[in-house]
Amino acid sequence: MAAATGTLLIKGGRVVDPAQGIDRVDDVLVRDGRIVAIGPSGLRADEVIDAAGLIVCPGLVDMHVHLREPGREEDETIETGTRAALAGGFTSVACIPNTEPPIDTQAAVEFIHQKATRADTCNVFVVGCVSRNREGKELAEIGRLVEAGAVAFSDDGAPVYDAELMRRALEYCRMFDKPILAHEEVLELSRGGVMHEGLVSLTLGLTGMPAAAEEVMIGRDISLAEVTGGRLHVMHVSTANGVALVRAAKARGARVTAEACPHHFTLTDEGLRTFDSNHKMSPPLRTAADVEGIVAGIVDGTIDCIATDHAPHAPEKKLLELDRAPFGILGLETAVGLAVTRLVATGRIGWPRLVESMSTLPARILGVDRGTLAAEAVADITLIDPALEWTVDVGSFRSKSVNSPFDGWTLRGRAVATIVAGRVKYRLGGR
Ligand SMILES: [Zn+2]
Ligand SMILES: [Zn+2]
Repeated sequence: MAAATGTLLIKGGRVVDPAQGIDRVDDVLVRDGRIVAIGPSGLRADEVIDAAGLIVCPGLVDMHVHLREPGREEDETIETGTRAALAGGFTSVACIPNTEPPIDTQAAVEFIHQKATRADTCNVFVVGCVSRNREGKELAEIGRLVEAGAVAFSDDGAPVYDAELMRRALEYCRMFDKPILAHEEVLELSRGGVMHEGLVSLTLGLTGMPAAAEEVMIGRDISLAEVTGGRLHVMHVSTANGVALVRAAKARGARVTAEACPHHFTLTDEGLRTFDSNHKMSPPLRTAADVEGIVAGIVDGTIDCIATDHAPHAPEKKLLELDRAPFGILGLETAVGLAVTRLVATGRIGWPRLVESMSTLPARILGVDRGTLAAEAVADITLIDPALEWTVDVGSFRSKSVNSPFDGWTLRGRAVATIVAGRVKYRLGGR
């Protein structure tokens, strides 16, 4: 990304930077794309943004985004997905490699970097495949992918099914200090399922995906992380017991981190009563007790971060009947609103924890030099209006797809400006 030249002064906002333990009303001065300092500045800047009443935080980082390019440009492209990211307040995304072809070569990593540079939107960090062609048979060339700039490894969309391969992947990635981002699912237990297995699936006569399908695999991978000393990041935890497994592993000192998605702390399997495929995701929406378990995990830090699992699907695919529609929903443009509405406005967490979960920790887990407003850091900054009430309208989304169950919802809290390397890349309504 090209950095800005000149000075930018963000005045009088509530500056929240958990990496430095800062939470106070202050000014932020930026010069030539980098943070100069937080503090009152007598300087005349080239550009001034009045941030009174706004949260000023390090740019948000979403470590779980499906940009679909190459191969499924009818759903999303690097350009449209990163524009959606900016509109959602994200200055960085990590793209998951289940593209067609999958990102399992240096050339594929370079392709993503080139496309992202051309889009000139937000930072795109590349996640490489764990296994060659995502087939789960042999390891991808992880060392060469690291050389090309891959920040983590994942076969998401599917689990790394072979336990011995997962063990070797954890051992190998450990040498590079890279995490494996794991989609946790025992396929024999979830096969044919379209929703959570429970009372609602029984009532509706739909095939269920039991909580155990996720929890058994979380348990396996925690064991493998402990035996190898490798870094496991559990993606999209959806069950209360899954949170408990991660909590216990952390207490033992295992190198395990975890994320949760806004839909999993907002919706339950009751939503499937509408037979709307925008409530079909993997792992599925579960029970109210699971939602509470995830919120508790976010509150106590067992769940390190909030990630969206942004999964665009073109309308004709999501309009298929429930059995045939693909799993997943959009996330980038509703994440801040859902997190503020569900977690901050309800008093469950404060702003520092929210910023930590959406910026500081995802940057730290990926090992990228973002997620702070420290002096000399790249000036990736998000301005959020914490009180703004707005109505979700999928028709106004930057994403190429519209598969969101939140269309028409009124949410509180929204990114109003997104700044990448000192350049204002998004402003809500020209504010
Ligand atoms: Zn997944
Ligand atoms: Zn995913």
